[in-house]
Amino acid sequence: MHSEGPIKVYVFRSVDVDESTLRGVMHYLRQFPGIMQFEELAFKPQFGRFLPLTLSNKRVAQRADDFSGRLRKTSVFFQPFNEEPWSNEPSASENATSVDEAFRECRVAFRLKPDDHLFLLSGKPNDQHFHTMIDLEHDYNYFISTSEWQALSFTDHVYPIVYQLVTAVLKQYMFDSREEAEAASHLRPIGCLMDRGTQRKDVSIKMRTADVCRDCQQRIHAKGVSGALCLQAFRIMESIRGHLLFRERYFLTRSEPHLVVDVSRRSLSIPELGPVPVVLNPLEFVLYQFFLRHPEGVKLNYLQDHTEAILADYLNMKVSGGLEAARARIQDLVNPNSNSASEKISRIKKKLQLNFGSDIAEPLCISGGHSEPKRIRLNRRNISVC
Ligand SMILES: [Zn+2]
Repeated sequence: MHSEGPIKVYVFRSVDVDESTLRGVMHYLRQFPGIMQFEELAFKPQFGRFLPLTLSNKRVAQRADDFSGRLRKTSVFFQPFNEEPWSNEPSASENATSVDEAFRECRVAFRLKPDDHLFLLSGKPNDQHFHTMIDLEHDYNYFISTSEWQALSFTDHVYPIVYQLVTAVLKQYMFDSREEAEAASHLRPIGCLMDRGTQRKDVSIKMRTADVCRDCQQRIHAKGVSGALCLQAFRIMESIRGHLLFRERYFLTRSEPHLVVDVSRRSLSIPELGPVPVVLNPLEFVLYQFFLRHPEGVKLNYLQDHTEAILADYLNMKVSGGLEAARARIQDLVNPNSNSASEKISRIKKKLQLNFGSDIAEPLCISGGHSEPKRIRLNRRNISVC
């Protein structure tokens, strides 16, 4: 049982995780202030190809085909894929460290208390394909894999990461031991946070229901889990649910998304879909901005008629290199004989599709048939520029 005082939750990433992933996770979490206080730590370990985890010993590996046996040895929090376990390979890199070491060093460097929660986000798949693991040596050290969510068809991996993180903290206070937690987990998914999640789709079911079953509610009550913690955790889970449903139902509702264009960050985001924006480079952004201003559409051949306006926007972004270099870049961009604009248009499209999903990205892309005017279809009323 957790008594008074804030619950400190620290998050760090290994070098292979994008800064934007951690930023997105922290940004999401901080929208829900409460008893859990989230902080990111500037500590970036590097791991080898597969993570040498404490639990990846022979004893466990031998029983890899016996799933229930493996779970008994480990913990209910583990959520393996239904795939062959990968073999563990020692690190090839000299600077690589082990997960155990990273947790230890991080705790010392930042003087964390033993009951501070410490999460490591790593893009490396661990050797057993788990999404989330708890350090066998220290219950409050957690490992979350950031790399494998796309395979689970989450376009934006911030949601599952946030879900795993928040529910891992909550579960920590619901049980006195791993054995107890495991005994209480639901083998058959019922859309509760204690579903064991042995199937790929189970993670998605849990996130879509954002629910806690009656048994688990009673347990939370009986263990005296802080009401403030429950409130904050449920709010976050609810919010993830809302985002997922928006995305899933989009193809039915076709309600056009609301696009937020942040000029100073050169970023595009859809608040209903979550906090991670698409960031464009200066030339991509200047081109996107130009088409936003021309809802009627413009043929790429005629871009050169707008050279001065595009150049002015470009210079406003305070890019390096001086006026002449800037002019040369813009002249290349608008040159009908160069492929520059087309290339940038497809790059922007790719970024939008990756972040928002193809369906939702469609009206946001600069599109139009060959030798026809290119335009961004999105209703301008759905766009805010800040
Ligand atoms: Zn339950």
